[in-house]
Amino acid sequence: MTHDTHAYIGFEKYSEHVPPSIPQAVQQATSRFVGGRAARVAELPQWEQLRQIGSDIRQHTIENMDVYLARLEDAVQSAGGQVHWAETAEEARRIVLQIAKENNVKTVVKSKSMATEEIELNHALQTAGIEALETDLGEYIIQLAGTGPSHIIVPAVHLTKEEIAALFSKHLGIDAPTDPVELARIAREILREKFLNAEMGISGGNFLIAETGTLVMVTNEGNGRMCTTMPDLHVAVVGIDKVIPDWESLTVFLKLLARSATGQKLSTYTQFITGPRRAEGEFGPKEFNLVLLDNGRSKILKDPIGRDVLKCIRCGACANVCPVYKNVGGFAYGSFISGPIGAILSPQMLGTQTARELPYASTLCGACADVCPVKIPIPTILRHLRRRVAEGDEFSKPSIPLLLRGIATLASVALAWNWIYRFGARLLPVINPFFCKNNWLSNMPYPLSRWTKVRPLPPFTAKFRRWWNVRSTKETVSTR
Ligand code: SF4
Repeated sequence: MTHDTHAYIGFEKYSEHVPPSIPQAVQQATSRFVGGRAARVAELPQWEQLRQIGSDIRQHTIENMDVYLARLEDAVQSAGGQVHWAETAEEARRIVLQIAKENNVKTVVKSKSMATEEIELNHALQTAGIEALETDLGEYIIQLAGTGPSHIIVPAVHLTKEEIAALFSKHLGIDAPTDPVELARIAREILREKFLNAEMGISGGNFLIAETGTLVMVTNEGNGRMCTTMPDLHVAVVGIDKVIPDWESLTVFLKLLARSATGQKLSTYTQFITGPRRAEGEFGPKEFNLVLLDNGRSKILKDPIGRDVLKCIRCGACANVCPVYKNVGGFAYGSFISGPIGAILSPQMLGTQTARELPYASTLCGACADVCPVKIPIPTILRHLRRRVAEGDEFSKPSIPLLLRGIATLASVALAWNWIYRFGARLLPVINPFFCKNNWLSNMPYPLSRWTKVRPLPPFTAKFRRWWNVRSTKETVSTR
């Protein structure tokens, strides 16, 4: 794994990380979220206007990010907080470790944060001899499992309750039941002890309000509040794209976020943190540090099409409706962030040379763009990135191997000429007997091996045109 940007295991290696139960567990959970979202959205007649306002505010903010970030820095400092700028993941880790070292920190409690997943902070803390404990239940589970998250808002969405009970039994040395309420109780008991003793709390943040320097955290478990108020030291690691102009903007995003993410009107906890505590009698940490993470975001800003990805409010709705995500799960994206948003963010952060497969991890059906609360044109960005992968542009060179580019050129010629297509379709079944096993093609030579390594292909047939003609005739008859 690289530590220069963020963890990327690559698309082809994903099968090593995917338990066979994933599609079922993921489909059950995402269907629940899709249903919940639809019900909440239907209650709000002005939903489409709200989406447009949210999109406009995010557009305006990313176009004026320098102004709002400067305003944010002033406001955080005026409230008594400290601001640190991290250009890379490595710099962000160094800043957090330095703060921990200066304060003799031995134990850290963490609330859920995609930014700290992005910079692989847990690994860095553990390497430095600091115990870092995830306190969001889903994050706690995947920490026990030793994996990253497979969904933006439900990190352990791929695990069944039986698998979670087995993890608890193995790592906590108990006979864990499969009852989710009991499992939550067991985790809560362990975590409470840690909250009381940790010297430092680390969080991410959903929004940063430039007007007052306020960090906004939206959660459904009380752990975020415990992490940011019980230890004397609070460090928030937040991407620079999370800045919003003011409190009025926040009212729009709070309405959009909870409905899109979990199908709630409002999440259980919405927490506002403006600097450290002012007086001894108040709740909250003595020290508040905000690490503003760039890690490729300012580079993305230069691309007029790709930069719309920075409008994202990390609701996960695009993953819940994505037919690819629902069938392969989050690990298939090989990165800390999965689903359609991962497919447009990771290639831009890491470069299309590294994550060149991700823009193709989509059917381009457009369901993601239809539900995105801030109207990010995900299919447009995917096509833009595919062009970058295939042809290169001012940001990167083409990254498709020469052989594949040659095959793609031949395929485009074959598809453009009717007789070549017909001839090829008759020729392909000839190779079936050499590779067919149990009526599946499972061990094809390169470049088809890139597919068959992961799942088999049905045998080639020359029946498409016949099938199409029969289907079209049936449809014509049924619509008469
Ligand atoms: S791209 Fe849109 S739908 Fe997907 S996580 Fe971001 S805001 Fe939500």
